[in-house]
Amino acid sequence: MGRAFVYVILGGGVAAGYAALEFARRGVAHGELCIISEESVPPYERPALSKGFLLPEDPARLPSFHTCVGANEEKLTPKWYRDHGIELVLGTRVKSADVNRKTLITAVGETISYKILIIATGARALKIEEFGVRGSDAENVCYLRNLADANRLVSVMQSCNGGNAVVIGGGYIGMECAAALVTNRIKVTMVFPEAHCMARLFTPKIADFYEDYYESKGVNFIKGTVLTSFENDSEGKVTAVILKDGTRVPTQMVVIGIGIRANTSLFEDQLTVEKGGIKVNGRMQTSNNSVYAVGDVAAFPVKLFGGDIRRLEHVDSARKTARHAVDAIMAPEKTGDLDYLPFFYSRVFTLSWQFYGENKGEVLQYGDFSSGRFGAYWIDKGRIVGAFLEGGSREEYEAIAKAVKLKVAVKDTAEVERQGLEFALKVSQLVIPEGGGVVVEKQVYNWHAAAGVAAAASIAAFAYWYGRRRRRW
Ligand SMILES: Cc1cc2nc3c(=O)[nH]c(=O)nc-3n(C[C@H](O)[C@H](O)[C@H](O)COP(=O)(O)OP(=O)(O)OC[C@H]3O[C@@H](n4cnc5c(N)ncnc54)[C@H](O)[C@@H]3O)c2cc1C
Repeated sequence: MGRAFVYVILGGGVAAGYAALEFARRGVAHGELCIISEESVPPYERPALSKGFLLPEDPARLPSFHTCVGANEEKLTPKWYRDHGIELVLGTRVKSADVNRKTLITAVGETISYKILIIATGARALKIEEFGVRGSDAENVCYLRNLADANRLVSVMQSCNGGNAVVIGGGYIGMECAAALVTNRIKVTMVFPEAHCMARLFTPKIADFYEDYYESKGVNFIKGTVLTSFENDSEGKVTAVILKDGTRVPTQMVVIGIGIRANTSLFEDQLTVEKGGIKVNGRMQTSNNSVYAVGDVAAFPVKLFGGDIRRLEHVDSARKTARHAVDAIMAPEKTGDLDYLPFFYSRVFTLSWQFYGENKGEVLQYGDFSSGRFGAYWIDKGRIVGAFLEGGSREEYEAIAKAVKLKVAVKDTAEVERQGLEFALKVSQLVIPEGGGVVVEKQVYNWHAAAGVAAAASIAAFAYWYGRRRRRW
């Protein structure tokens, strides 16, 4: 048995939802597009699983966070897919693929063929077993990648109210889950091997702020060590975690967030793989012309980083790479290479941060760390390449994004550090982008020399350009 479609999206996560919306906007005909997903529900905004979904009161539940509500777009409910003639093949795992024959075979043996395939298989949570530790199958050990995991986490949390939890891992899943557990009145101990939380992104000073904040909410940190084993009761439930440094932490539940691995396995011997993902060009096209890859599974050239191939694990990248792939498929002559500004964010308790670009080179930190209004710029080869901001307004986040996008030149780092956020805000108002980097540099330093010079003309040009950018964001 088998079915045939013009377009098939393999995977039903964030990228699939945004790709479907773009296909619909571009007038895909009824019956041409199919989404195959192992999950039993249509695409949803995955970040909600560690945020609104875990709230003790009035938690987010589907259908409220189906894609594409996260980008203030239409909510794609099952009815939406029906109305647009898009076939959803849910609860179905694809177990093999043949890119030469253009076929996928599902776990129940159905062959689904395509003319164009978009791989949107995302990533899976790394298991402790991959690091030689056993015990993931205990009923009070949780991971968090999909809706089934989130439902399980909620039920374990509910049975643990007023008790203790250990969170293994200090990345964003660990940090967001720890915050959710605290909000659910569970006392949390976080364990991770690094010297501070969010080690891949935060500087020690930024991490100190969040760790102090978490400690003020009762979270205990055990750093510089790893989980080696569990102690279990007679029913197999974990009762304590044992750490490499010999510490024993009694607990009623465990949440593990130790990273992810892209779901590339179906294609590893058929397509070029790089940086742990399926390599694509600037149009999200793989080494096979009929196959595209988007979202967490794709490794794509980031223009801003000189075309360096990167695999990003963030929702904004999933949304934008998905749309770009559909543009490249449906309007090839009008679609160039993706020009993407890497962006990610997190929200915990009442805190909220955004980061743009990359954290490379010298770091300049500014603001008031005691009041939670602070940020950082990363300067590489004399230009801003990354920016972080906690507690910003929309306008402020847009300003730091622009400073990175335009790779603003920095001659006097002490002055930029002193100005802090003001620097980005001023740059965002004075830049005329058509001139590229060199003009940017001049404009910034013209401003230093004589504040207000040419401001009116620049602001008008900026407003025009910015209006165009906003519509694209
Ligand atoms: C809990 C959580 C919170 C997050 N919070 C943030 C955040 O605050 N900010 C941020 O920037 N990013 C966040 N992210 C990351 C963001 O959600 C991902 O970058 C994004 O979901 C990637 O989208 P994707 O479509 O590539 O993959 P996914 O959304 O993971 O979708 C992949 C889909 O493919 C399906 N699939 C895989 N293999 C097969 C197969 N063989 N057959 C059939 N189906 C298959 C999966 O079941 C899944 O439905 C978070 C992620 C998680 C898990």
